[in-house]
Amino acid sequence: MANFKNLSIYDTMEKLDIVLYPEPGLREICQPITEMNDDIDKLIDDMFYTMYDAPGIGLAAPQIAVQERLIVVDVSESNNQPIALINPEVVQSAGEITWEEGCLSLPGVYAKVKRPSDILVRGMDREGKQIELEANDLLAVCIQHEIDHLNGTMFIDHLSGLKRSRALQKYRKLTEQPE
Ligand code: ZN
Repeated sequence: MANFKNLSIYDTMEKLDIVLYPEPGLREICQPITEMNDDIDKLIDDMFYTMYDAPGIGLAAPQIAVQERLIVVDVSESNNQPIALINPEVVQSAGEITWEEGCLSLPGVYAKVKRPSDILVRGMDREGKQIELEANDLLAVCIQHEIDHLNGTMFIDHLSGLKRSRALQKYRKLTEQPE
């Protein structure tokens, strides 16, 4: 929560509702964004606000019920390295890393997922400029996790059948409403 002043319009930011599994929108393929505009710029700020507040290290637009290809991440300890990516795509990947992942749309569930450890991502920044970004380790994990959301994939889909059922069982138990 510390470094909101880095963001352009922090006075007007709004906290958005995070949609929870099994909301069907989390399983949809999101649409590319064709051009930057003020609405998307504001959405990016609101997504950062919502992510820092949660707190989390990444958030994808479908998690706030917007079916568009937009993610925000910040894996720094002091919340001062915000990265917003529009239409992000992994164009190269190498290596391997296993990380215990969690998801703001599956609160309380954590599981080890194996992914490439080094990636090259292509996309558009919030100024509408095409960019390439190299990411390693946690940042690479986080970006891949968020890009998965744009394709309707959740991190539990990377688990074996048994581990996935266990994770979902735990989630159901956690989210069960007491009578
Ligand atoms: Zn997630």
